[in-house]
Amino acid sequence: MTSVTATAYAAPAGSTPLERTTIPRRDLREHDVLIEIAYSGICHSDIHQVREEWGPARFPMVPGHEIAGVVTATGPGVSRYAVGDRVGVGCFVDSCRECVNCLAGEEQYCLRGETPTYNGVANDGEPTLGGYSTHIVVDENYVLRIPEGLGLDVAAPLLCAGITLYSPLVNWGAGPGKKVAVIGMGGLGHMGVKIAHALGAEVTVLSQSLRKQDDAVKFGADHYHATSDPQTFKDLAGTFDLIINTVSANLDVDAYLGLLTLDGTLVFVGVPDSPDAFRAFSLIGSRRSLAGSKIGGIRQTQEMLDFCAEHGFGAEVEVISPDEINAAYDRVTASDVRYRFVIDIAQLRD
Ligand code: NAP
Ligand code: ZN
Ligand code: ZN
Repeated sequence: MTSVTATAYAAPAGSTPLERTTIPRRDLREHDVLIEIAYSGICHSDIHQVREEWGPARFPMVPGHEIAGVVTATGPGVSRYAVGDRVGVGCFVDSCRECVNCLAGEEQYCLRGETPTYNGVANDGEPTLGGYSTHIVVDENYVLRIPEGLGLDVAAPLLCAGITLYSPLVNWGAGPGKKVAVIGMGGLGHMGVKIAHALGAEVTVLSQSLRKQDDAVKFGADHYHATSDPQTFKDLAGTFDLIINTVSANLDVDAYLGLLTLDGTLVFVGVPDSPDAFRAFSLIGSRRSLAGSKIGGIRQTQEMLDFCAEHGFGAEVEVISPDEINAAYDRVTASDVRYRFVIDIAQLRD
């Protein structure tokens, strides 16, 4: 069967700059597809893991779980995809397929642990290596179809940033008559604004400054407030049915809980590296909930891709060449990204 040596960008060790290298991709098994990657998004989670902010990681690490490309070969048993299909791969490439969560289509909550696209170990014991590479081999059951009309560059970030916001927005009922706020307008947050608006909710952005206000309005925000202004928390007390927190730093959780209505929910999707604190009174006073949400299952990820295509939007991207990855990491950590860096993987094939 087809076996491929891919060109990739890898971090040789924790917190080291990424550099060009080659990696093997496995021979195609019965249900595998070989994907020639066109674009790979840079998620803040890539940076957390390269810098070992979530604990010890596996190196060399090829990050990347926002993958868009084209199928170039298929295993003998593949029925869902054919050569030439436009496809995507998100944050996981396998799961047990048997537990109650896998059977419910919530593979991201697999009770035996889903196989992450990188910084993990596959069932065959081999380390998983992600999308900053020219090719990847993935079981067809963990591959998504990218609808016609969505460019592969603007589709790539949907595979993590898009689904990470779509899932809680749908789960907590964002729609007409609901007031939704998004904290932080980076890669995840800007997708939250677009998706919540398309779902029909009234959308507010809570950003550190007023710098991104014009963009937020273009993405569909109805309101925009700077969290650096203490007046924001007074003016908006008790306002929102749902707040999604995309920030990877510790926030004043009580202050944000105070912005929820009776029965409102604050959902964490951002992952600070140290624990947050809050007072029970902030929940009890208005029967509020504090929750978390992790990406989305395969079925819902396909639903999200189709939803974005129907509504005619992808991510706002800044396409970079592979040799700009390290500089892009610094810009993401400085909140200087509008709104997702996407690596032009074709340049790795030169
Ligand atoms: P990002 O592009 O860096 O966006 C984060 C945004 O948070 C920034 O653009 C900034 O927006 C705001 N922010 C940054 N530092 C802040 C601070 N000190 N105080 C207040 N706000 C701050 O990152 P991302 O790729 O969207 O990822 C966000 C987080 O979600 C990361 O922790 C990532 O690991 C996590 N994540 C979780 C999941 C999941 O399944 N739950 C999936 C993917 C990623 P403003 O300039 O507008 O304030
Ligand atoms: Zn991600
Ligand atoms: Zn499972």
